[in-house]
Amino acid sequence: MGQAKVSCDEVIALLTDYLEDALPAEGHRDVAGHLDVCPGCSAWLTQVLATIAALGCLREGVIPPPVLAALRESFAGSRQGRPNAAGAGGGCRGRG
Ligand SMILES: [Zn+2]
Repeated sequence: MGQAKVSCDEVIALLTDYLEDALPAEGHRDVAGHLDVCPGCSAWLTQVLATIAALGCLREGVIPPPVLAALRESFAGSRQGRPNAAGAGGGCRGRG
């Protein structure tokens, strides 16, 4: 039931397509479903959207690759750096 169809890494990889509505309906739903249950990814999405809004990129509907790469890097770094205070029992595991 609560089994995630996509991993965090996949969500991150697909996020640009997700935001640009370039995913097939099923993929879009999988990403949305993951974001709904994964605090880490939803927090990251919030950060991405805030960054995009700050840069005014939303008008273009495109996220510049350097922006995405930087965000992705910071997210990966925060994941590796510390287990995240409230990481226990989360619905989000990198692999498994
Ligand atoms: Zn996640």
